[in-house]
Amino acid sequence: MTNNKIYFIANWKMYGTLHSVQSLKNVIKLKNKQIYNKAKIIYCPPYTLLELFSKSIKKTKLELGAQNCHFHSEYGAFTGSVNSKMIKNVGCKYVILGHSENRISGDSDKIINLKVKSSIKENLKIIFCIGETLKEKKKNKTNLILKKQLINGLRNIKNKKNIIFAYEPVWSIGTGIIPKSNDLENQILQIKHFLKRKFRIKHPTVLYGGSVSPKNISALNQISSINGFLIGGASQNSKKFIDIIKKTIN
Ligand code: PEP
Repeated sequence: MTNNKIYFIANWKMYGTLHSVQSLKNVIKLKNKQIYNKAKIIYCPPYTLLELFSKSIKKTKLELGAQNCHFHSEYGAFTGSVNSKMIKNVGCKYVILGHSENRISGDSDKIINLKVKSSIKENLKIIFCIGETLKEKKKNKTNLILKKQLINGLRNIKNKKNIIFAYEPVWSIGTGIIPKSNDLENQILQIKHFLKRKFRIKHPTVLYGGSVSPKNISALNQISSINGFLIGGASQNSKKFIDIIKKTIN
């Protein structure tokens, strides 16, 4: 996906009630042309809020995504699950796949690969997450792990134009710790190099995710290879989310 806009993807995880739509409305009020010329703002609330958010963002430049979907692309007897057709139907343009919180709770590379296929079938844009654990980092296995996640997750996927990538070191998610700037710059460049060489993606979009906050965003913005941010905790607070966006765009 070639896009020069900077991505701000709000991953609300398992948080939010009907009242939380107010946080979204505060961002909607931000009728700042300059921001929307330069930024792509995508909300990924839990499934229970997708319909409400979908209605709320009509006539705005905000976009909607789901945090996951079932690997089975057709309807079926899968209690508690939601497939790519259903999230598309409710107004999602995006879906987050391969998030480490879902990998930890059972999503293997093979399952993620099936989810990618079913999401592509529905013309959804995929935010494909990769990242190493602290143990893997300490063993110098980061590149090996990231390559494995990419090769297996994208196996037999010919059309990768609707896939953007998010590098999210697991040790950074929700911990307040972010990688050293030089390390992060190098890692993003290495991921881009691999995506170009292995998958022939001409201009890969690679986001960073992990404890992004108003406090560290200025340092992260110095890293020119980053194409945007996947933001968990800080995105649920509209003041913090807007602050992150403004500090990046201005
Ligand atoms: C995430 O959920 O993808 C994430 C990066 O979370 P946090 O910003 O809270 O670390």
